[in-house]
Amino acid sequence: MATLILAGTLLAKPGEEPLYRHTIRIEAGRISAIEKGFAAAATGDEVIDLSDQVVLPGLIDCHVHLTSEFGPTHKILTVEESAAAIALHAAAHARATLLAGFTTVRDLGELGGAGDAIFALRNAVAKGYVPGPRIFAAGAVISPTGGHGITCGYREDINLLLDSSGRADGIDGCRLAVRRQVHRGADFIKFVATGGVLTDTATGTGQQFFADEFEAIIATAHMLGRRTTAHAHGADGIKAALRAGVDSIEHGSFMDDEAIELMLARKVVHVPTTLAGATVAAQAKDGFLPEAIRKKALEVGPQILHTLSRSHKAGIRIAFGTDSGVSRHGENAKEFALMVEAGMSPMEAIAAATRHAAEHLGFADQIGTIEPGKFADIIALARNPLKDIRALLDVNWVMKAGVVYKHAQSQSHI
Ligand SMILES: [Zn+2]
Repeated sequence: MATLILAGTLLAKPGEEPLYRHTIRIEAGRISAIEKGFAAAATGDEVIDLSDQVVLPGLIDCHVHLTSEFGPTHKILTVEESAAAIALHAAAHARATLLAGFTTVRDLGELGGAGDAIFALRNAVAKGYVPGPRIFAAGAVISPTGGHGITCGYREDINLLLDSSGRADGIDGCRLAVRRQVHRGADFIKFVATGGVLTDTATGTGQQFFADEFEAIIATAHMLGRRTTAHAHGADGIKAALRAGVDSIEHGSFMDDEAIELMLARKVVHVPTTLAGATVAAQAKDGFLPEAIRKKALEVGPQILHTLSRSHKAGIRIAFGTDSGVSRHGENAKEFALMVEAGMSPMEAIAAATRHAAEHLGFADQIGTIEPGKFADIIALARNPLKDIRALLDVNWVMKAGVVYKHAQSQSHI
């Protein structure tokens, strides 16, 4: 028994020309064939009519934080919610993300106090207990004492209570922190190469680990079979992380020409998160941000779009990432319009969120395109995103691994 999707317009492999009037055959959660024309169903087959829709692979966001959502109540919630409450809250974020068409995400770090919520959520989604995207999780962000990944802004005894297993100082500390994340179940290792915007200390956005600490983090992760990614704004930290062998750069706000050359030479991926930049710049005007954060938000926010223009023009591989959790979960697709504003074509932006993101996750043989053998992660839109990229804000049909989670309005019979 198969499921047949009748696709009016089919972007099977973003980056290549669309196909028209094709049938996607799905068996046991995977795509088994793509056929020209609308195939006739055999007895027992289920037919999903998307003949008036644009059908494309499920979207992939390489930078989210499902266990939190920044806003005026964020600081109090951090000390009010138990790890169990955080996990349930995160499940709601995961559901919103899936229904927005994102069938896979990479979660790049929990806050102190979240316990093992992200790993529990990843596993619960995989088992089908709760609806959500397929999750690749980094666990705690590896950060030095006083660095961007460490809880701050409370009384020091409260800060320490919310301390994270990612805290690392010195070579031994860095090795241990990476090993602890892998032991907890991390699929990726995320570390802070520089200061960050949402840290309530005036630590700026420059380098935060020494070169030998970067090397210790990356070498340990690679030895244990995990890719690494660096949160990085300042050029000094970006370049030090690149020289130490990092696999990708998040944000990359102040990357200079030398950093761009290093990224090209080492084939390092850029995950721009322009939506985070736009969000914090807007929040800086709302008045709830502490002064140390407000200053950085206004400085870094608008810079990220400009940086994406440069990195894209230089030919650096871009993987789609939003930093959702800074922005609201489920609004991930807002990133697309910003990518196009930065100079990417709609097709390039879609490829960044599908096949290039899948390659970046090391999972391109399973997801990222609609091809036989891969998971049936498929979405549909009423309007063509190649004509208007904002069409991706209205995903009206979502399938993950062959299971339909959101039904198109015109599909009342399924
Ligand atoms: Zn982030």
